[in-house]
Parts: sequence; structure tokens; C-alpha cells
Amino acid sequence: MSQEPSKILVTGGAGFIGGAVCRRLIASGASVVNFDKLTYAACPASLAEIEGSNRYAFVQGDVADRAAVRAALEAHRPDAIMHLAAESHVDRSIDGAEPFITTNVVGTYVMLEEALRHWRALPPPEAEGFRFLHISTDEVYGSLGEEGLFTEATPYDPRSPYSASKASADHLVSAWGHTYGLPVLISNCSNNYGPFHFPEKLVPLVILNALEARPLPVYGDGGNIRDWLYVEDHAEALHRILERGTPGRSYNVGGRNERTNLQVVETICDLVDEAAGALPSGPRRGLITFVADRPGHDRRYAIDPTRIESELGWSPETDFESGIRKTVAWYLARRDWWQPLRERYQGQRLGLKAAE
Ligand code: NAD
Repeated sequence: MSQEPSKILVTGGAGFIGGAVCRRLIASGASVVNFDKLTYAACPASLAEIEGSNRYAFVQGDVADRAAVRAALEAHRPDAIMHLAAESHVDRSIDGAEPFITTNVVGTYVMLEEALRHWRALPPPEAEGFRFLHISTDEVYGSLGEEGLFTEATPYDPRSPYSASKASADHLVSAWGHTYGLPVLISNCSNNYGPFHFPEKLVPLVILNALEARPLPVYGDGGNIRDWLYVEDHAEALHRILERGTPGRSYNVGGRNERTNLQVVETICDLVDEAAGALPSGPRRGLITFVADRPGHDRRYAIDPTRIESELGWSPETDFESGIRKTVAWYLARRDWWQPLRERYQGQRLGLKAAE
């Protein structure tokens, strides 16, 4: 795209990554329409700093509701769509896949159909600049052994209902590009962490449980490896892909920050000890307990980000050590943000249905 689009419709903008994307877009001068159903995972308080902007609009709607999507596109006439709305928690997908199919698969199909209709009605210069960026995950590639990295050419091999629903969506996006010429882009990113992360996911859950001296359950032997990326770096990568990516192409996004889950949990324990003082019972590492593994738990994910680095000039600014330190400090300072969410979800274990 030669020029930055002036108005971007972001689906899922009240979520963890969508919120970071909305804040970044507003800071960059763009207008944002946040289209979000406000499910249990939504945190509208994460958008407090932009909701007063006259370049920000919110529409409550479901991506699987064709009439609602069409009405939003007709009312706001965006120059681009960034599609992040999804059911995103693997453990919940094990307990019940249906919302994952409805939102991630059917919702993406509806977004594509309505984006196509919208794009075809745009005058030529606007149609040429239009982009549909679909935000996906590295989990579509399956599990790695000790060696190797996921590249954009790695065959899809999803293993969980969540990753299968995201893989299905990616295939639909690609098909709408090939078949109808819709200018689509796909990003496949590794695990994110950072401020405003709903406390059902590993990093914020461990920070809050460590703070409250609760047990810290680690799945299996704790040796599963993820490639961690600070959420603000992901938001910047997505902005870069939207502005400079080549339609029809997908981009892997990752920070070359592989850590075992146990390393992540131990690092958080040490940082919480440092910031909040050790517990009378001793260092917080003593709270770690090993619990039965997640069914079908992928062993290792690791991203080769060479394409986005070399073609789009993106690289992450924050390494894991400084990012996790910033994140722990943020949670310690922002009880006002997480306390209401903690009341909504107390940290009980999810994802055991497959073992019943
Ligand atoms: P999240 O769960 O924090 O937020 C999802 C948002 O989507 C919520 O605000 C929710 O209300 C909204 N939503 C859900 N269903 C909807 C529907 N039917 N219609 C409209 N809105 C709906 O998710 P996240 O962690 O911010 O992830 C955002 C996207 O990035 C997802 O597509 C996810 O697959 C992808 N992704 C996430 C990660 C990660 O580490 N979190 C990594 C790679 C890719």
C-alpha cells in the first residue's frame, strides 16, 4: 500500500492483541472502528486511553452475524480490515469446540464474504489500496521436535480444536484471495505476552497466582517450548504487514525468544519475589506444582521470522528478559485493571474434558 489507510476496521479490538493494535493505530494517526462482540475475553477498559478520540468508534457485533458485519462496513466504509476476533484459548477449545467453529471458521467466512462485497463496491483507487489482514497463529503448523523452525512453507498440521479452527480460517482467507482476488494478507504469530492480557493465559495467571501465593500449576514436565513475543512488537508487526505486505502472502511473526514453560514460570517467580518481597514460606519457586499435561499438548513452537525481517524491515524491540520484567511491573501496578477480571475467572483449571 503506498499510503497508510485512513480508516481501519479492527475485529476483536477489545481483546488482548486487538487492544494493542487499536492503541497503536490511533497513536499513528489512523481512524479505528473496533467491531467486537464483547465475549468473556473482552476487556474494554484496555481501550480507556483511546476511547475519547474522535478517530475511534466502537461497534458491538458478532463476526458471524452477516447483517451486523455488513451494516458496520456500510456505515464506516473502512480502507482496510484487520481481523483478530476469535475464540483464542486452547484449553477452552478442548472443553467445547463449538464457539471456536462458529467464531473462528464461520465468522472468518462471513468477514471474507462481506469484505469482498465491500471491496467490489469501492471506487478503483480505494479498491487498489484495500487490504484484508487475517491474524493467525503459529499453532497451525503443529508441533516441532528439538530442532527446526516454522517457516511460511511449513505444511499445516493443527492438533487442537483451536489451532484446527484457525487453520481452517487461514485456508478460507487464502482461497478468497486466489479465487476472488480479494487483497488478503495472513500473519502467523507465536505466543504473545504483555500488559492487558486476560488472566486465564499462562503469563498473567502465573503473575497473579504468584502474587497471591497460590499454587503455580505447570503442565507435564514444564519442558514445552514456546517462542515469546511482546504484544507491542506484535502490534507493530501487524501494522507493518498492513502497510507494506504483498497481498496473497503470509508472514510469520516471532521474536526468537524460545523458553520452556518452566523457565517462564521460574522467571516470573523471581521477578515477583524481587518486586513484592519473598513470602514467609520462602521463594515463590516453591509454589510450583507439576500437574497432568494438557491433552495433545504440542511440544515446541519456534518461528523463523526471516521473511518479515528481510521483506518488511520488522524486528522486535523487546527481548524476553526486559518484556517479562515490564509485564510483571505492569500487573503489580494495575490491580484496578485485573481485579474485576479475576472475579470473573478465578484461575480454575480448564481443558480437562478430553481426559474424562
Ligand atoms: P482475546 O481472546 O484476548 O480477544 C478476542 C477478542 O475477540 C475479544 O475482545 C472478544 O470479545 C472478541 N470476539 C470473540 N468472538 C467474537 C465474535 N464472534 N465476534 C466479534 N468479536 C468476537 O484474543 P487475543 O489473544 O487478543 O488474540 C487475537 C487474535 O490473535 C486471535 O485471532 C488469535 O487467534 C490470534 N493470535 C493470538 C496469539 C496469542 O498469543 N494470544 C498468538 C498468535 C495469534
